[in-house]
Amino acid sequence: MSVVFVSHGAPTLLIEDDPAKDAMRRLGRELPRPKAVLCISAHWETEAPAVSAATKPETIHDFYGFPEELYRLRYPAPGAPALARRAAELVGAAEDPDQGLDHGAWVPMMLMYPDADMPVAQLAIQHTLGPKHHVALGRALKPLRDEGVMILASGSATHNLRALSWQGGATPAWAREFDDWLDRTLKAGAVGELVDYRTKAPHGAMAHPRDEHFLPIHVAAGAGGKAKAAYRGFSKGALSMSAYVFD
Ligand code: ZN
Repeated sequence: MSVVFVSHGAPTLLIEDDPAKDAMRRLGRELPRPKAVLCISAHWETEAPAVSAATKPETIHDFYGFPEELYRLRYPAPGAPALARRAAELVGAAEDPDQGLDHGAWVPMMLMYPDADMPVAQLAIQHTLGPKHHVALGRALKPLRDEGVMILASGSATHNLRALSWQGGATPAWAREFDDWLDRTLKAGAVGELVDYRTKAPHGAMAHPRDEHFLPIHVAAGAGGKAKAAYRGFSKGALSMSAYVFD
């Protein structure tokens, strides 16, 4: 089964025209249909590895100051407690029976599986433990791929909120250079470069002032091999919406 990375963008992705949205819909239609999805979202951070094991995960609206209609959206997909147990066993994580779906999970899931009929569990990230830890999580999850599970990493290829222009605008050179580096690195399957992105990539710390939106891609790289771009493009000037499918 596939390992996928998507840049989930702002929650307004769902109500704006953005070709990145069509790319996510396409992924849901065209990739082999899994039995369940394990989603690694930038928006669930814990101190130690944790997996969500709810049977009916609630839709968490973990964003503030956005249009009212976004708070009315619900994504009633079933949970995947058996997958949660298996993933917890593989990575040595705790199971959390109450954790719902954060918007880093339900926004792309809503686009990929709009019928909300795909069981989904989440694996949390630990931003204080850095990229190497997340590559190791991905490696430990590899057996799931032979067990009919899609690994869906959801973060952002670039994520400097202060550099965004919400009305749209030109993409700054640093964002393009970082995104091009990421593309080359993922295509080459150069996981070591990816781990050391803050020193190896052009403008690494500018593209990710904090790690959390980049760590899901480390999980994907650990679980996958070389990657192919499923989408490349920018939103709000500096926000890369790149998406990848890993071998
Ligand atoms: Zn986000």
